[in-house]
Amino acid sequence: MQWRGSRLSTNVDDRRRLGIPGGFKGLGAVGLVVALAVFWLTGDPGALVGALGNGGRSVSADTSEPSATEEELANFLRSVLASTEDVWTEQLPRYGAEYRDPTLVLFRGAVDSACGMAESAVGPFYCPGDEQLYLDLGFFDELESSLGAPGDFAQAYVVAHEVGHHVQRLIGVEEKVRAAQQRVGEPEANELSVRMELQADFLAGVWAHHANRAGNVLEAGDVEEALNAAAKIGDDNLQRRSQGRVVPESFTHGTSAQRVRWFKKGLETGDLEQGDTFAARDL
Ligand SMILES: [Zn+2]
Repeated sequence: MQWRGSRLSTNVDDRRRLGIPGGFKGLGAVGLVVALAVFWLTGDPGALVGALGNGGRSVSADTSEPSATEEELANFLRSVLASTEDVWTEQLPRYGAEYRDPTLVLFRGAVDSACGMAESAVGPFYCPGDEQLYLDLGFFDELESSLGAPGDFAQAYVVAHEVGHHVQRLIGVEEKVRAAQQRVGEPEANELSVRMELQADFLAGVWAHHANRAGNVLEAGDVEEALNAAAKIGDDNLQRRSQGRVVPESFTHGTSAQRVRWFKKGLETGDLEQGDTFAARDL
C-alpha cells in the first residue's frame, strides 16, 4: 500500500507504554527507591532532584521503548485511519448520515474499555460504548506468522473492518441488531452477528474502493493480501485450526468464502446501497 507522505491521523490513543508515569520514565523503580532513601536519610532534596533529572538514567534503562519497526507500524496505522476518516467523511452524507472520527487505541497485552477489560486474545475490536477501536499490535504478528496473512494491506483491512463497525453504529445498524439479538435465541443471534460482520467486511471494501480512487493507494498484490486475510480469519478456518472441526451454527463472523465475497463486493462497487447483508438471502 502506498502511504508514505500521506496524512497521519491524530485520533490515536497510544497506550502501549501505559503504567510508566512520565516523570519517572528512565529512572526505574530501583533508582526511585534509592533516591527516596537518600532523601530520607540525608534530607538532601538535591539527591531526589538529581536522580529525577538525569542521574537515574544509568540506573535502569527504559526497555519499553518501541522498536523502529513498531513505530513504522504505528505510523502506517495512523495513515490508514486518516484515509478512513477522509473517505467516510465524504461518503456518509450521501446516505444521510454524518461521520464522527473514532479514536484508535493502540495497546499491547491488555486494555480497559467501556466494553470491559480486554486481553489481546480477543483480537481487534470496536466498542460502541466509547466509539473507540482497540488494536493490540501483537495481533499483527499473529496474523502474519500463525494465521498466514502477511502484508500491510492485510493490516489495513483489519483497521477498515473495525472502522466499518463504527460506520454501522453511525447509520443505526448496530443498535437495531443488538436490540433484535435480545429477542431471539442463540442460533438466530449468531446469524445476525454473521450478517453484521460480513457488512463490516463489505464496508472495509467500500473504503478501499474510495481510498484507491482518491490517491491510488493500492499496489500490486494488495487486494490479494486483504482477501487472503479475510479468508484466514473466517470462522470455518479458525474453527478448523483450533478444534479440528467446523460447527456452522456457532459462527459469528461468516465463512472464509463469505468474508472474501463481501469485501470484494464493497471494493468493486464502492456503494453503500449494495451492502445490505441483512436482506441478502444468499450470503
Ligand atoms: Zn468485526
